[in-house]
Amino acid sequence: MLVLVINSGSSSLKYQVRDVAAGSVLTEGLIEKIGMGNGGDGDGEIEGPRDHAEALEQVDAAIHQELGDLELAAVGHRVVHGGERFAEPVLIDNEITRAIERLNPLAPLHNPANVLGIRAISKKWPKMPQVAVFDTAFHRTLPEHAWRYAVPDELYTNHGIRRYGFHGTSHEYVTRRAAALLNLPVNEFDGVIAHLGNGASVTAIRGGRSVDTSMGFTPLEGLVMGTRSGDLDPSILVFLGRAGWSPEDIDTMLNRESGLKGLAGNNDMRSVVEAAEAGDGKAATALAVTSYRLAKYIGGYHVAVGGAKALVFTAGIGENSHQFRALVAEKLGALGVELDAGLNAERSKEPRVISTPQSGLPVLVVPTDEERAIAEATAAVVRSGQ
Ligand code: ADP
Repeated sequence: MLVLVINSGSSSLKYQVRDVAAGSVLTEGLIEKIGMGNGGDGDGEIEGPRDHAEALEQVDAAIHQELGDLELAAVGHRVVHGGERFAEPVLIDNEITRAIERLNPLAPLHNPANVLGIRAISKKWPKMPQVAVFDTAFHRTLPEHAWRYAVPDELYTNHGIRRYGFHGTSHEYVTRRAAALLNLPVNEFDGVIAHLGNGASVTAIRGGRSVDTSMGFTPLEGLVMGTRSGDLDPSILVFLGRAGWSPEDIDTMLNRESGLKGLAGNNDMRSVVEAAEAGDGKAATALAVTSYRLAKYIGGYHVAVGGAKALVFTAGIGENSHQFRALVAEKLGALGVELDAGLNAERSKEPRVISTPQSGLPVLVVPTDEERAIAEATAAVVRSGQ
């Protein structure tokens, strides 16, 4: 089954055509600057498609140029926010599209863009089955004590203010692969998954289900990330508001100017590690803060899952930065964690164990593949609906 996977942002559209049975990518691409151009009309100086419908025409043309005539069986959309309603991928119809749209206030940058992508496909290919795969869905199993904030109930009942969690598609996929690597049925897997990319989150898995996760109402909560602060005292925001900062100023500072960028002046982990190794004190501090925050969460989640059977690293930093993994592991001595330096330093695209046989718990590196997970979920929904 050939599935087109779409990750639609407000001004960009990422796509992949996947052969689900073969697990392969047939072609992929990125259309940028949507809404910024004139679609090649006029004097042709302004680049970029006018809207998502025009971007989709470009995707269609690129796919056919690359692969010739082919029949897509379905389209799978990465949808950021599924709110409290969506715990599973769903086949999209008008009502589902409107339900995703009603969640716009919870994800103002993402859900409107996801809906534009869905509507563009519905218009171009009205009969094409479309499936929404939600970033929040895997965390619908969080118990109330993990998703509640200790604030007046009306904030939850009137505004939906609670913890939702994100990166769910990746955490679920990596959970399954980690369980397989340990020869465990997934429902017997208790562990901690650290998804460390530009955005980063860590999830506590008990019996194969998410029971706690570090991102909350938005992806800002939790770990120190590339440009996001993660956890801080909320009074800082009140303090800044009183000092004259606007909500937009605060939002930009916390989401775009903080994290590794705020501490070390650079949001790229490779550069921060290189700078620290060259003796840059700010870069060393950034690594210390970032690895300490993660180690604290891992300790907490070890308790939350009743004793983790594995610690799993994934995504850009988790899969590639042996230096950062080592920094985290050296703070986990209380759990008996011990990395094998040689295995940790090895580069590989395969799921693997990087701890010693004596380690208190196995430490794994498991590459994530969100597009693959979306394509497989899409195919499964379409098949079950036939
Ligand atoms: P996104 O959240 O944008 O999908 P990624 O999962 O691609 O992010 O992760 C991006 C991060 O991974 C960056 O901080 C980058 O420096 C880091 N990274 C990628 N490759 C390497 C590498 N070989 N060594 C160390 N860090 C790496």
